[in-house]
Amino acid sequence: MQDYLIRATAADGSIRAFAATTTNLVEEARRRHDTFPTATAALGRTLTAGLIMGATLKGDDTLTLRIFGNGPLGGIITQADARGKVRGYVQEPHTHLPSNAQGKLDVGGAVGKEGFVYVTRDIGLKEPYTGSVPLVSGEIGEDLAHYYVASEQIPTVVALGVLVDTDNHVLAAGGYIIQLMPGADEEVIFQLEQNLKEAAPVSALVELGYTPEKILEEVLKGFDLKVLEKKNVSFTCTCTKEGLEKVLISLGVDELEDMIREQGGAELICHFCSDKFEFDRAELEKLIQEAQ
Ligand SMILES: [Zn+2]
Repeated sequence: MQDYLIRATAADGSIRAFAATTTNLVEEARRRHDTFPTATAALGRTLTAGLIMGATLKGDDTLTLRIFGNGPLGGIITQADARGKVRGYVQEPHTHLPSNAQGKLDVGGAVGKEGFVYVTRDIGLKEPYTGSVPLVSGEIGEDLAHYYVASEQIPTVVALGVLVDTDNHVLAAGGYIIQLMPGADEEVIFQLEQNLKEAAPVSALVELGYTPEKILEEVLKGFDLKVLEKKNVSFTCTCTKEGLEKVLISLGVDELEDMIREQGGAELICHFCSDKFEFDRAELEKLIQEAQ
């Protein structure tokens, strides 16, 4: 089934909600970066969160999510755009830890409990806007909920889940964000808390075949859900050979000559998608001319 994202409101606009299924794109990320299960879960949660948090982007806007903790995973970097495309990577893809006390993939242990979340919105202004908050648990969902409360004063629930099969493939991935708008009445808050307490983990819902609509219907039971927008989402990188030529030129003539002398060419790998780009001697010589 195609991965997609929905944006919705409920309870006469006092609840704002987003949900996405991301099984295919998280599997694509796993395959591209050869991530081990704990790293797959951490990257998958962050890719899903980036898409959902970027659900209201327009035009050429982008949202970059960076999570830097003190755990063995290093940093997680994802970038989503307005067209539902997301790309991302983790610094140490071969991170895998024993399961945590709940028998789940230990994302908090891999990310670490100390560090920061950075959310950068580039919406075409002179300077992109970056907000940051300290990590709470390293579990990512909780950390991002804290981000919304601390930096935007919006009570927010962030649920993210990735189920990894015994052969390391991604079985199910998805997530949702629920936000309470100012003026939501007590009854709505109480009922929402009850619903969330009873809701199954989002990865379990996706594994059962729940669509984003069905996930929100379940979590927002009794709230008159209105879906406003639906868009397909995918793992897609924006890197090109031309873009990397610019990177090479910026290294300067000496560096390019060294590459020719020592390796007879150059091989660059895009961090975001692991695609490889080869430059032979003749191509590097052409770039040297351009650099001069
Ligand atoms: Zn790329």
